[in-house]
Amino acid sequence: MVGLVIVSHSHALAEGVRELAQQIGQGKVAVATAGGLDEHTLGTNPERILKAIREVRSPGGVIVLMDLGSAILSAEMALEWLSDQERAGVLLCEAPLVEGAVAAAALIAAGASLQEASEEARAALTAKQRQLRAEAGDGWKGGPPEPRVAPGHQPQRADQVRSGQAVVPNALGLHARPAAQLVQAASRFESQVRVRNATRDTDFVNARSLNAVALLEARQGDELVIEAVGPDAAHAVEALVALVSSGFGEPAALPEAPPEDAAPGLPEGRARRVFGGIPASPGVALGPAVYLRAERPAIRRVLAEGRAEDELERLDKARQTVARDIEEVARSVRMGLSAYLAEIFEVQRALLNDPELLERVRRAIVEERLTAEAAWDRELTLVVNRYREAASPVLQARGVDVEDVRDRVLGALVGTEQVRAPQLPQAGVLVVYELTPSLAAQLDREQVQAICTGAGGATSHAVILARSMNIPTVVGLGQGILTVAEGTLLGVDARRGVVAVEPDDAARAFLAREREAWLARRRQEEAERYLPAFTQDGRRIEVAANAGSLADARTAQVLGAEGIGLLRTELLFLGRSEPPTEDEQAALYRAIVEAVAPNSVIIRTLDVGGDKPPAYLDLGQEANPFLGLRGVRVSLAYPDLFRTQLRAILRVARAGPVRIMFPMVATEQELEAGLEMLQAARDELRGAGMPEAADAPVQVGIMVEVPSAAVMADRLARTAEFFSIGTNDLTQYVMAAERGNRRVAGLSDPLQPAVLRVMAEVIEAGHNAGRPVGVCGEMAGDVEAVPILLGLGLG
Ligand code: PEP
Ligand code: MG
Repeated sequence: MVGLVIVSHSHALAEGVRELAQQIGQGKVAVATAGGLDEHTLGTNPERILKAIREVRSPGGVIVLMDLGSAILSAEMALEWLSDQERAGVLLCEAPLVEGAVAAAALIAAGASLQEASEEARAALTAKQRQLRAEAGDGWKGGPPEPRVAPGHQPQRADQVRSGQAVVPNALGLHARPAAQLVQAASRFESQVRVRNATRDTDFVNARSLNAVALLEARQGDELVIEAVGPDAAHAVEALVALVSSGFGEPAALPEAPPEDAAPGLPEGRARRVFGGIPASPGVALGPAVYLRAERPAIRRVLAEGRAEDELERLDKARQTVARDIEEVARSVRMGLSAYLAEIFEVQRALLNDPELLERVRRAIVEERLTAEAAWDRELTLVVNRYREAASPVLQARGVDVEDVRDRVLGALVGTEQVRAPQLPQAGVLVVYELTPSLAAQLDREQVQAICTGAGGATSHAVILARSMNIPTVVGLGQGILTVAEGTLLGVDARRGVVAVEPDDAARAFLAREREAWLARRRQEEAERYLPAFTQDGRRIEVAANAGSLADARTAQVLGAEGIGLLRTELLFLGRSEPPTEDEQAALYRAIVEAVAPNSVIIRTLDVGGDKPPAYLDLGQEANPFLGLRGVRVSLAYPDLFRTQLRAILRVARAGPVRIMFPMVATEQELEAGLEMLQAARDELRGAGMPEAADAPVQVGIMVEVPSAAVMADRLARTAEFFSIGTNDLTQYVMAAERGNRRVAGLSDPLQPAVLRVMAEVIEAGHNAGRPVGVCGEMAGDVEAVPILLGLGLG
């Protein structure tokens, strides 16, 4: 049987714990104590511990439980004094002294092994924590996973130690954006959290340090081990494992590579030199090369006199200023562009607060007596270099985000507005080594005719920003592009990824023609964007847009959409560790409805699951997630979540024409259950004193994207007030060919006759019942498919 040794600074405490343990162990457990230096003096003594271990030693082994600080040292010393043979079964256990002794004694009395009893001791705080949490009403009732102590781990406190594994599903690996989300999530817990890349056999790093986490270089398929020590360790590990496994809301597959034939070359004329790069944002431009006036401030390096504390304070203030600036830019970007892109700035915010980085800077200031700017410059440059040297091109590209943060803080420290002023000397083709997100966000569209970068890839955040501003951009042209003198004429054909330096007359004429044709096409599209659509035989077709954010909705308005035919609300729910609140949802829906009014918005209720599992819902392991808990099935499984969303929608339903649409409906019962939820949401709003919202008129329709719904469309049309055919899913389910799987792309084609026949029947069933029928899958945006859809009777 396993023996127990209680080591405490206090003789009385050790005896008290012995008494408790023996009582719990019904007198069957051998418990020895080593409390105090003697009966009256506080302290610990290795000799006494050695004696106690020998007293209870048996083939079953010995668990030694200690209280604080030197108790651990003394116990370790005692262990060293034991012979190898004696030491074999003796375990110094980091469990809490009182709870651990009681838990272990109970199990030992029942015949448990050393391993079982020590694990029970380590988990001994769980019951207390669970009870207190339940009383505090935080809703966490689930039991934590079984404890597993990572080798070599030294817990700081008598707390829980938990660990778990998660595989990185993201196509681009754990690059800076997901790393920033992990850091944010880890920071919400009281426990210390660390993480290692088991696949690449790295050491553990602090999960609150963005650089440390990003530089784990976790690629798609790599396994991370997440370990937490502290009062909420189980909760932390559970949440972080779920977050990593969810892919942080990013796609698991990369977008298609540009076609091979996008090779550089000028079809007409010659140039002094032609650079070939990656086409990143289409368009054609001809203009002088312009560079940003990049003035690096003179930096005072050594703190000749003055106090290090003052430098630390200056640095803090500068960081706060930059954090506010970033917040400001993020806000304007969020309003003008996609919400997803605004997350770039989350990465920069996390960098500004990286605890490990700050500690290194602090030490440089205090110990080496560097000025705040010199310390910051040196440490940040080291980090920039580490990113640049990373094996993954995605991480290499992140170096520029760090550089951006470095220079902004330097600017704030030395008093210049901005180290790299985004102003250009004149309008022209901007040449930069690499585009930073903040620079891209502040570019003046009128001034910047095109962008050419030496480094970077087509998917970098800054480039996505440039693309969304319609600025022709070619990236990855190499260092050579920076040798072009300012003012030199550049011809940029960003569709082909070509930059011609000093093009001759013929090349110039060609580029000018191409630019004119490009602009003319854009002008024509712009001029016609508000015209109503008619077929040649006079049928009026309503053209609405799919949107996933406020920015999408605004863009759709500007481009002439007649409303939002599908508002995918899941963007708001993904890539976070908790669902959005009712107020948060209502604010976003209101902004969208107001932006689109008087046109209507069809708000689709949450469509997660399948390829979009949110971290905070336990959808379980599914062999076929697309056939599992998805769409309205998830909403019905989480009624609180569902009603919260419905209340938020009802609250904005008077701000403009709003309709509600349920996704993935497979049966009439599901539609009815959804309507019951809507009624319940109305009742709740009435109860909360919001009668206007409770009685708001809203039509409720469904997406027809599951074959069973298509087959039963005539029945569903009795209740559903409109149909929208989701051709993306309908095709995958009719053809049994997963969307996004390139190997079955031929089958997963909405133009397959079987899909068209099913659609024709849905359209007919809807129209027979007098219900409007629309299409919201990608097919509706395919110019070649549109005549077929119209031929099927749509519109
Ligand atoms: C569809 O399935 O066609 C559709 C529009 O919905 P989603 O692509 O969001 O699944
Ligand atoms: Mg769908």
